[in-house]
Amino acid sequence: MRNQRTLKKAVHLNGVSLHSGKIAQVRILPAPPDSGIQFIRTDQGNLRIPALIHHVSQEKSVLSTTLEKEGVFVQTIEHLMSAINGFYLDNLNIEIDGPELPILDGSSIPYLQAFRSAGAHEQSLKQSFYTVSKVVEFEEGEKKIRIEPSQELSVEYSISFGSRLQQSFRFSLRKGDFESDIAHAKTFCFLEDIEKMQSAGLAKGGSMDNAIIIGQDGVINPSIQTYQDEFVRHKILDFLGDIRLLNKPLVGRFSVSRGGHAFHSRFLSFLLEKDLLVPIESPNNVSPWIGLPVAVPV
Ligand SMILES: [Zn+2]
Repeated sequence: MRNQRTLKKAVHLNGVSLHSGKIAQVRILPAPPDSGIQFIRTDQGNLRIPALIHHVSQEKSVLSTTLEKEGVFVQTIEHLMSAINGFYLDNLNIEIDGPELPILDGSSIPYLQAFRSAGAHEQSLKQSFYTVSKVVEFEEGEKKIRIEPSQELSVEYSISFGSRLQQSFRFSLRKGDFESDIAHAKTFCFLEDIEKMQSAGLAKGGSMDNAIIIGQDGVINPSIQTYQDEFVRHKILDFLGDIRLLNKPLVGRFSVSRGGHAFHSRFLSFLLEKDLLVPIESPNNVSPWIGLPVAVPV
């Protein structure tokens, strides 16, 4: 069983926000054991918004995942939450000076690099996990998530956008590594959707550097691509962020097809409502945690 983890010291990132186009400043600070992940809106009287599923705004979580408390929002949290899941962090205070996180390069790598440079601090309390009490299948039309109980976290994901784009990928923390296999995968969009998003007041901070753009004849800006099957890997990145919105990490054997932020969130709410989550003491000693980033003892 592993100990809870926070950062050894604060990290600071800033950049343009994808949807609002405004510059956002983020400070990610160490936090005490059992305090969880909390966003703090420094421009709203330091209002704290816990990164928990019951604060997810369904109507504002179509193109990104958005938290809400008392009418105050924090939008586009998923790439940071994914890095938190992939770096095994449990307690953090995340200060943000506006309603949306910066998009950075469209992946989780800038967060992961910041975490690595600060180092992880192992805390005094143990961390437990959730898995499910039985096989659960959750479906809405063509969207599907299946989870089998397991002490490991693995995700098999498939996406299909007609004949233009079909990919699938299987990621396992036992065999793979978040940093090498998932964290570099950038967000993507179709060229024809950009105008629609911008006329709806969205994607004002999108650029050729922070999103892979797919035109009728393929990718328009392939030089920013890391993986040939980057799109499905990015969906796994988003999924790993979206399932980190519980008070403990969730493990299991997942298979997902055609998911999206709002659907991922409804799945998590369904697990809670139907009382399908069971706490487990630990994923078996070592196996799922091969590649656990080195903690710096303090
Ligand atoms: Zn994303």
